[in-house]
Amino acid sequence: MELTLDAELEARLREVRALGESRMRPLGLEADRAGGPLPPEHPLFAELVARGFGRTRWSGEIGGDTATAPGAPRRTARLAVLLAEEMAYWDRGVAVAFPGPGLGEAPVLAIGTPEQRERFLAPFRAPDRPRWGAFAMTEPGAGSDVAAIRTRARRDGDAFVLTGAKSFAANASRADWIVVFATLDPAKGRDGQRAFVVERGTPGLGNFHVEHKMGLKAYESTSFTLEECRVPAANVLGGAPDASAAAGPSSRTGDGFRGAMQSFNATRPAIAAMAVGIGRAALDAALAFAREASLLRDTRVRDRLERMERRLRAARLLCWRAAWMADEARANQVEASMAKAFAPAVALEATSLGMELLGEIGARGDHLLEKLHRDVKAMDIVEGTGQIQRLVIARQLLRFPRD
Ligand SMILES: Cc1cc2nc3c(=O)[nH]c(=O)nc-3n(C[C@H](O)[C@H](O)[C@H](O)COP(=O)(O)OP(=O)(O)OC[C@H]3O[C@@H](n4cnc5c(N)ncnc54)[C@H](O)[C@@H]3O)c2cc1C
Repeated sequence: MELTLDAELEARLREVRALGESRMRPLGLEADRAGGPLPPEHPLFAELVARGFGRTRWSGEIGGDTATAPGAPRRTARLAVLLAEEMAYWDRGVAVAFPGPGLGEAPVLAIGTPEQRERFLAPFRAPDRPRWGAFAMTEPGAGSDVAAIRTRARRDGDAFVLTGAKSFAANASRADWIVVFATLDPAKGRDGQRAFVVERGTPGLGNFHVEHKMGLKAYESTSFTLEECRVPAANVLGGAPDASAAAGPSSRTGDGFRGAMQSFNATRPAIAAMAVGIGRAALDAALAFAREASLLRDTRVRDRLERMERRLRAARLLCWRAAWMADEARANQVEASMAKAFAPAVALEATSLGMELLGEIGARGDHLLEKLHRDVKAMDIVEGTGQIQRLVIARQLLRFPRD
């Protein structure tokens, strides 16, 4: 496994570190106290765009990504985990609020046609303003069980009409487009699903409601509805199923589900790396507190700090391995799930151990460790809970077919 950082990557990480310390950490604390997300017109976002953030990793070529120079080894996934960890170290909520195609980019890259990549990702190559993309799979009645999605898509001439409700989609109300998963036929479970790119302002897309969250308050997690929302057939990722097949069995079964799963194999290592970043921030805060309170010679305190360090490093290696395999185009589903199952649990333990050290100071609600403790919980939930990752690993171990 190749892990060396070249000079360009080191410089990128230094840039993120400086931005994190000067802007992300203070803004994250501010949003946490205010109890709501940074608004889309926040000056940070325009500044980020001017500095080259918020761009797609798609280079404009089929299968291309901007992180890879011609002839150089692919390192997109490794770059993503390194930057994800560093940003989350400073503030994971602010990191998700950053402009960019977000989680919606992965399905467009995984199953979008060349024309669709051009249409939806080109505006993110050198954005003229802060732009966001979003990903909406979860519904009030369908989270882990993706087959239970009830948002319906019905063919009507050269369009599909979508009706349903989505929940907790990051940056949805400010997004230029949202990748919405819907079913042509609920009886077919995953095989009946497709991914539709629903563009901002489409009639019927609305009722945006920013959810209250226990942590990660700097970015919006938004529920919304689709009411007879007419989406052009050209916006079905991977191409629309035949008109004849839309009413009955599809000739391109499972594209929506396949796209979602391919997205997760690419994004789960980065989500796991974000948990490592939050855990590292907790370790540093715990170390600083222990030093100030002259606790470093206490063996019980040292044991806690050592455990945090050891397990966080192990979690990081799992993230790197899953990312390296993705860059090598090797099947990484199990490794991605291992990283996602392990890292959030380790990071949650790190924030808990930090809270133990603080004692009553942690209970006051104004210490960074207390915020990290609330922020980290979601890392076990998003993009497949820890329990679901363990099912994926066990299924492979026991050679069980997908159920
Ligand atoms: C902060 C945050 C951001 C999010 N962002 C997005 C987003 O951008 N886009 C999006 O589409 N969704 C998003 N989500 C939703 C997230 O993906 C879901 O919450 C997640 O998939 C879990 O679904 P659920 O909440 O319905 O829980 P459920 O699926 O109802 O699960 C409840 C519990 O049961 C367990 N469980 C479920 N099925 C099984 C099983 N078969 N075996 C064993 N245990 C099981 C789960 O592990 C969990 O512990 C976000 C959620 C949060 C909290």
